[in-house]
Amino acid sequence: MKKHYDVIVIGGGTAGSAAAIACAMAGARTLIVERNSYLGGSASGGQVTPMMHIGIDGNYGDSYLNEVIKKKMAGEGNAADDQYGNDGWINPEMLKFTLEELYTEHGGEILYLTELIDTVVEENNIKGILVHNKSGLTLITAEVFIDCTGDADAAYLAGVPCFVGDEKEHNNQAMSLRFMLGNVDIERLKAFLKDIGEEDILKYPLVEIASVWEQDTPLCRLFRKGLKEHRIEYEDGMYIQAFAVPGMPGVMSFNCPEIPDIYNTLDSAEISCALVTGRKMIKRLYRFLQEFLPGFEKSFLVSVAEMPGIRESRRIKGLYVLSEEDYERRAKFDDAIARTAYPIDIHGLLDEKQLGIKAMERGEYFEVPYRCIVTEKLENLLVAGRCLSSTFTAQSSVRIQPTCRALGEAAGIAAAYCVKNGRKVNELDGRIVRDFMASPDYSSLL
Ligand SMILES: Cc1cc2nc3c(=O)[nH]c(=O)nc-3n(C[C@H](O)[C@H](O)[C@H](O)COP(=O)(O)OP(=O)(O)OC[C@H]3O[C@@H](n4cnc5c(N)ncnc54)[C@H](O)[C@@H]3O)c2cc1C
Repeated sequence: MKKHYDVIVIGGGTAGSAAAIACAMAGARTLIVERNSYLGGSASGGQVTPMMHIGIDGNYGDSYLNEVIKKKMAGEGNAADDQYGNDGWINPEMLKFTLEELYTEHGGEILYLTELIDTVVEENNIKGILVHNKSGLTLITAEVFIDCTGDADAAYLAGVPCFVGDEKEHNNQAMSLRFMLGNVDIERLKAFLKDIGEEDILKYPLVEIASVWEQDTPLCRLFRKGLKEHRIEYEDGMYIQAFAVPGMPGVMSFNCPEIPDIYNTLDSAEISCALVTGRKMIKRLYRFLQEFLPGFEKSFLVSVAEMPGIRESRRIKGLYVLSEEDYERRAKFDDAIARTAYPIDIHGLLDEKQLGIKAMERGEYFEVPYRCIVTEKLENLLVAGRCLSSTFTAQSSVRIQPTCRALGEAAGIAAAYCVKNGRKVNELDGRIVRDFMASPDYSSLL
């Protein structure tokens, strides 16, 4: 049966779930089309935890829905904060429940296990999207569409000009395949880190371990031993990072391995190779940790992330292209919908120092304008999340979850407002969205 919605959100990840919750709270008849069987995207299915902090004291600039989600998760014992003010330590499995509850309790509808196949565009408007699932091919229509696929799939299919990767070679950031180990003795691990003189900056039960070949830390020396004794291979130790997970005692989530030589994160053959390589790397790392790192002796593999860890792929060319110059001049905009001091963080290619970009000092930040989530061509499409309109370098700062969530929330507010007032999203004055985000009153949009 053909259905018509006020708003369809394509992709229910970090940005998409915020966009959809905002729409539903504003009373818009909303549908999420999601190819996974849960919400949360990379944060849940990709096991990306903790949320990085926007780096502004007192979470100044954190979006309303980010606070709502974190509060609900903390209230149910599924989140924690560290002593540095980051309250974004979340349990990725329980995030699926939290997002689904917040959305459905406001009447939102979801089509899981459903993939966007194509868009139907007429006179600068998306009339409908063609989706595929167990029921076959279906056309679903709406007044406004929000593309939160991370890859700007809907925008691309609808003919919006897009950027891919870095501006010179069009290479994407390095991919990772995250995994979780259980039954880690965290107290024993912390005691060992102390013994070997490794920095351990987090209070129990939180812990983080990190190592890269370039830094001669005690932990790196342990990985070098493993390399020398042929337990791991060079690429396995290129980038090691793992965190404790709130609400999962004894579990550590690994932000690695980083997969070498994968440069096109839109190519399914390359992604498949990355998954095969990644699983081999995980097996070696896991065995190595059991043998070499006290605390991991009795650990077991809980799971490998269902979603490949893709940090960057396709980005739209919107009304404004956020750039590293904006980062450098700490740009502020009248139509700002997010702000952050998170550094330029390009995995596998270049970092801030190599690029000669001055890191943010305390109190400094830059902003993302509303114009980065709308396009010149389409009057009823918003694009939020890591595929916003930005350069490769600027994206590496704004791709973190709190920013993606703020962009999603802004898109949801704009969509609901435009449906109610019969406006075009790419002609909307972004200051309306900015003002709403500063003092959100969702009932005013009903
Ligand atoms: C390995 C890795 C480590 C990271 N580390 C951190 C970190 O420590 N802290 C932090 O804050 N951020 C981190 N990030 C960044 C952050 O997690 C992501 O940038 C952010 O989650 C992206 O959110 P999104 O909503 O744009 O995309 P996603 O969360 O990826 O959501 C996209 C959604 O769209 C769906 N989808 C895609 N295509 C289609 C389609 N055609 N049809 C239907 N559905 C579709 C997907 O299934 C998914 O649910 C990391 C990212 C990666 C990959």
